[in-house]
Amino acid sequence: MRLNSLLETRLADLHAAGLLRELRRVDSPTGPHLQLGGQRLHNFASNDYLGLANHPVLREAAIKAIERFGIGSGGSRLMGGSLAPHHELEAALADFKGTEAALSFASGYATAVGTISALLGKDDVIILDKLVHASLVDAARLCGAKIRVYKHNDLADLERILQWATRPRPASSGERHPRPNVLVVTESVFSMDGDGVPLREMVALKERFGAWLMLDEAHATGLYGERGQGLANAQGVADRIEIQMGTLGKALGVSGGYIVGSRKLVDYLVNRARSFIFSTAPPPAVAAAATAAVRYVQTPAGQALRHQLWAYVRALASHFPPPGGRPPIAIFPVIVGDEAAAVALFAALRERGFFVPAIRYPTVARGAARLRITLTAAHAAEDITALADTLRLLLPRFSQRKIDHAPPRPT
Ligand SMILES: *Cc1c(COP(=O)(O)O)cnc(C)c1O
Repeated sequence: MRLNSLLETRLADLHAAGLLRELRRVDSPTGPHLQLGGQRLHNFASNDYLGLANHPVLREAAIKAIERFGIGSGGSRLMGGSLAPHHELEAALADFKGTEAALSFASGYATAVGTISALLGKDDVIILDKLVHASLVDAARLCGAKIRVYKHNDLADLERILQWATRPRPASSGERHPRPNVLVVTESVFSMDGDGVPLREMVALKERFGAWLMLDEAHATGLYGERGQGLANAQGVADRIEIQMGTLGKALGVSGGYIVGSRKLVDYLVNRARSFIFSTAPPPAVAAAATAAVRYVQTPAGQALRHQLWAYVRALASHFPPPGGRPPIAIFPVIVGDEAAAVALFAALRERGFFVPAIRYPTVARGAARLRITLTAAHAAEDITALADTLRLLLPRFSQRKIDHAPPRPT
């Protein structure tokens, strides 16, 4: 078994570098507490920001859909017929986001990869924020376009690259297309560093250069705006963004991903997004639960969950304020730096009853390991105070620097 001995060496190397990852079995629903290895822990590791993952309204929608449509979807939506719950979800998403159309995918990852490689090819240019999610990086690689990366949230750097990408090409240059299609890709709220993009300025910038914008609202949908539509809607620029994407597995509490935009965009993706075409549709109950979530976050009850979450965010930020006067978000990165130190801090917190994941390379850069606290509306105020107290006690032992966030965003 030469493969196994090779893998053993590689795993040992990961272990030595403090980078070994392993699955931790949980024997409870995901929520503010987890049953993990015989221990009941306060859970600060979930993206279930509004506490919908185990919410009765969603459970009921899923159960009803199972009774009516069964479990499996039977195949790709283009092959075996496209079940009604998927259409209802897409109608709800388009209505929620105020777009002509929506298309749902099995995951956010599949959404990014399918959409970007359907839209761009080798004659095009894709420009990514340095910190975008791995699914967007993989999508950029897969589509074959020229890749350029700008410094995180740095619009001056983005402008420099846009100038290069859209520079006039002399007819003699031999390039087939005098002007490539240029797509700028960013998230509206960055999960690993917990900061938001200067969205209005970015929209104005891409318009000035005639580029397209793809905005991933994975960590903003359900959380920003009057009805939780996301940052693009909250800032009034949604109709100037060509491609909006998001996930159904974070604040919406279910799983899956989506694109919202023009009818033409969706019609085209149905024809060309390979991760949509060549993959079994998610179970109808998942679509039904997601539809219930999209509707629920817009109700007064959903709004109350948002208010609760933001109250907790402000409470934790009063202990650990983000630098630069940046508004805090539900994700608080606690930068430790060293990978092994981050893992040791994780273990110390776990001993004290807190589950706060250590985030390491390759999710973040080497030497930028951190703990990532995620607050949810389902926490209790005491949970958050207890975490803040414990962290204040432990942090100095594990990191030279105190809580330190990403570089402040440019204004
Ligand atoms: C989580 C996430 C994804 C992937 O979504 P999944 O549904 O988990 O596959 C894509 N983009 C961003 C920014 C994310 O945070």
